[in-house]
Amino acid sequence: MNLLDAIREAGIVGAGGAGFPTHVKLKAKAEWFIVNAAECEPLIETDKYLCRTYADRIVAAAVIVAGHLQAEHTVIALKKKYRAEIDALRAAIDKAGAAIEICEMGVFYPAGDEQTMVQFVTGKTVPERGLPLDVGAVVDNVGTLLGIYDAMTEGKSVSSKYLSVVGEVREPIMIHTPIGTPITQCIEAAKPQLTDYAVIVGGPMMGRVLSDREAIRNAVVTKTTGNLIVLPRDHYLITRAGRPMERIRAQARTACIQCRMCTDLCPRYQIGHQIRPHMVMRNLYREQTISSNEEFLRAFGDAANCCSCGVCEMFACPMGLSPRKVNEYMKGALRERGLQPERNMKPEARPELDMRRIPTERLIARLGLSAYSGLHAHTCIELSPDEVFVPFAQHIGKPAQPVCKAGDTVNKGDLIAQAAEGALSANIHAGITGVITEVSAAGARISGRKEG
Ligand code: SF4
Ligand code: SF4
Repeated sequence: MNLLDAIREAGIVGAGGAGFPTHVKLKAKAEWFIVNAAECEPLIETDKYLCRTYADRIVAAAVIVAGHLQAEHTVIALKKKYRAEIDALRAAIDKAGAAIEICEMGVFYPAGDEQTMVQFVTGKTVPERGLPLDVGAVVDNVGTLLGIYDAMTEGKSVSSKYLSVVGEVREPIMIHTPIGTPITQCIEAAKPQLTDYAVIVGGPMMGRVLSDREAIRNAVVTKTTGNLIVLPRDHYLITRAGRPMERIRAQARTACIQCRMCTDLCPRYQIGHQIRPHMVMRNLYREQTISSNEEFLRAFGDAANCCSCGVCEMFACPMGLSPRKVNEYMKGALRERGLQPERNMKPEARPELDMRRIPTERLIARLGLSAYSGLHAHTCIELSPDEVFVPFAQHIGKPAQPVCKAGDTVNKGDLIAQAAEGALSANIHAGITGVITEVSAAGARISGRKEG
């Protein structure tokens, strides 16, 4: 089976959080193949663990993918402070005799943002709302490469996931668990220090905040779950996420002092994109009175270039305002009006880019996470849940279509939902061996069958 067929069959999607189907991304030729091992957000441990533990496999998969892309440069990019990971990768590269460079990035946020990384590694800025391929680059996360290695060497599909559990737990740990495992079981395995907690699924800047108890009970591990942060329910990150949009807009209209820190520190502005959150904030007061589409685009069009990294609201703004959420709101307003701002296809990084990087340690302090910083996950626990719920939408695009029904017996790794025909989609496989007890539009529940 060729590479793309193997990847499609295995249901591999971007493991770093985006969930873009990999067989579609790799339908290309590219000058640069960049392996993203930067662990973009603070506290996450997963990519580091994978680099230390599976460096040989990551390097082997990188060679395969780079060959397929006919890449002239293959680069693994990670933060320069990850010494153990860099040593492991260098040893694996030497052992394989692979033509792979290591790019040591500064310790800043968002080093792992695809566009920031492409600019750092190649010196070229991706066009506004464009793809790395527009400047001849393809970027894959280390977790995605491990999936490719498993598919190519053992024909394995994506049925399990590595993730870290950090925050209010006895110590940060790694979990290896079937797709569909309730996140509460992962947290229990990490020995939470609180009986009643909130959770961030992902990183503290861009992760999904779950404070509702039922939402926490129902959340499961998917192909893109890389980290869980357990926090007190009254932690700043949790209470801030609960602010209603109406209040956010009212505060923006009345309290913005137009200092433009949000713009000056915006990573997308710094790589040369047209995005000035302070202007969106300034114009918000006249949102309801602008009838001309041209004027609306002038006032709010920049919002379309926001990647929701959160630097403006979680780090830059001295007034505690939320330009990111206002941008997200204005993106919706632009869509409603059917407006698409013009794209700059040849942006250039601003000269002050390097001076405006956000040091990760300062960001951690600003987020109120210093108590959890500097602790690393060295142990990995294998979980075997009795039951899993496997969602059919774990990727960007259309949900997969079920090919199973209640009562079917499945083995771990069996196909249970097929990528939607003719659309961006990905196959979904059983996380455990057992009997399907429920199939809905959302996913399939599997009750485990104990072996032997
Ligand atoms: S969230 Fe803020 S800092 Fe990040 S891209 Fe959007 S405007 Fe810029
Ligand atoms: S940083 Fe805050 S106060 Fe300053 S311009 Fe941006 S939103 Fe307004």
